[in-house]
Amino acid sequence: MAALGENRFELVIGGEEAPGTRGEHRPVLDPANNRPMAEAAVASREDAAHAMEVADKAFRESNWAADDGARRGKALYRLASLVESRAESFARLETLNMGKPLRESRGDIAYVVRTLEYFAGAADKVEGETIPVPGPRIDYTLREPLGVTVHIAPWNYPLLLSVRSVAPALAAGNSVVLKPASLTPLTAVAFARLAKEAGLPDGILNVVTGSGAEVGEALIEDRRCASVTFTGSGDVGHHIAELAARRFLPLTLELGGKGPVVVFADADLERAAKAIGYGIFGNAGQMCWAASRLIVHESIRAPFLEKVRGIAEGLKLGPGTAEGVEMGPLVSRDQLERVLDYVRDARENGGHVVVGGTKADDPALSDGNFVRPTILADVPPTSRAVREEIFGPVLTVSSFSDMEEAVRTANDTPYGLLAALWTRDLATAHSVARRLESGMVVVNDSPTTYPQTPFAGVKSSGVGFEQGFRALDTFSRRKNILVNVGTSRKKG
Ligand code: NDP
Repeated sequence: MAALGENRFELVIGGEEAPGTRGEHRPVLDPANNRPMAEAAVASREDAAHAMEVADKAFRESNWAADDGARRGKALYRLASLVESRAESFARLETLNMGKPLRESRGDIAYVVRTLEYFAGAADKVEGETIPVPGPRIDYTLREPLGVTVHIAPWNYPLLLSVRSVAPALAAGNSVVLKPASLTPLTAVAFARLAKEAGLPDGILNVVTGSGAEVGEALIEDRRCASVTFTGSGDVGHHIAELAARRFLPLTLELGGKGPVVVFADADLERAAKAIGYGIFGNAGQMCWAASRLIVHESIRAPFLEKVRGIAEGLKLGPGTAEGVEMGPLVSRDQLERVLDYVRDARENGGHVVVGGTKADDPALSDGNFVRPTILADVPPTSRAVREEIFGPVLTVSSFSDMEEAVRTANDTPYGLLAALWTRDLATAHSVARRLESGMVVVNDSPTTYPQTPFAGVKSSGVGFEQGFRALDTFSRRKNILVNVGTSRKKG
């Protein structure tokens, strides 16, 4: 039985909850034991069209877009405090559905609240500019909302990654249709239920659950869709980009990474090892910005690897709801098989397993999707485990002899989301940070971000960016207005 009251989660369209035209529901599993813990409505293409129609009507007919931004801001603040007042229930629901330890879900929900607050404060600051032009003319720009924005979310941070784009879209005056991942739809539905109480007009925030291939595509192809924000796999990202290109829709894609973490010999090795432990074993490694490739200076490789191995071995695995658990299950059986397949492939290619590499051996965990924290060494740089995003608790290790080699190895990836580096030398820190082909770099820290800082990928990690004040630009368009204020002079 799920938290937040019941175990059936319907579509939320126009402020109403309904099962959708099919009347079908899909079981939602607890990844700690693969037993159903709730069920969610399976929407049809007709439901998607209905959601878009309702969102479009709300955009045109409610006062949301036209209203003073400060009033939108107040509604978003109320939404933030409604989530905050139910934070523990949201966190439990997220953990039961996704598997991550409760401590991490609590962090996610706090981040959701902070994101809503940040964009609540930004809602009355969607400003244009005046531009000097010749003659008796005044030129200025207006920033206008786009209309109905479509958001397709993944399963690794179900509510956090939904709200990351939904909050700025709402702040800028758009209406929203959100499709969460089929594996983890629950917190998005619970969130949308709060919209009415927060004072959002009905139809401004809608959630449609169901298959991405069917409902997600229907939302993007709908003529009322004004922009698409997608977080997920590269393959689906390519497909969505093609759909969006047909109608020249503005598009933001966040497609994952293969983050390097470069450790120089002068680094604070204790802190670095702990941060790497979080960066690859946090959320069981199911993070687009995971620090998944350790690139360590050859002079400290052996002792440093021992430290990281000690962290991996010491992590307590178990259901995310259990006391003291530090790493939960993977989200699904498929994801578990996928991760183990990468380990098999690495072994067959000459890699060796420093630690982990198998399912958890505790019989109490055998029904769940538990894999041991894993470190792979000596894996050829061309192998799949080094090239592709594994999306599990698997760290690969290589070493370097000088800065050039470190930078070359770090950049030798199709991805470019987050890179980390560890050094006490300021010149090394700044010069390497500049040379890393990455949308984000952290120096002497674990992967860290805030609602006010841009979250961006380059290369195959995506297009556009999320978070930060300029996320409002993503969800508004510029209109230029030129006014000639000249008058004809009467003679005499
Ligand atoms: P997907 O890319 O398949 O799914 C992400 C979202 O897109 C889900 O809401 C999904 O819906 C939806 N979707 C799927 N197909 C379509 C489509 N044709 N049109 C519109 N929407 C669609 O990711 P997976 O869940 O399959 O995960 C696979 C891999 O992707 C992971 O192992 C990881 O490597 C990567 N990934 C990266 C993430 C990141 O943060 N960058 C997050 C999640 C995954 P539905 O769930 O109904 O299929």
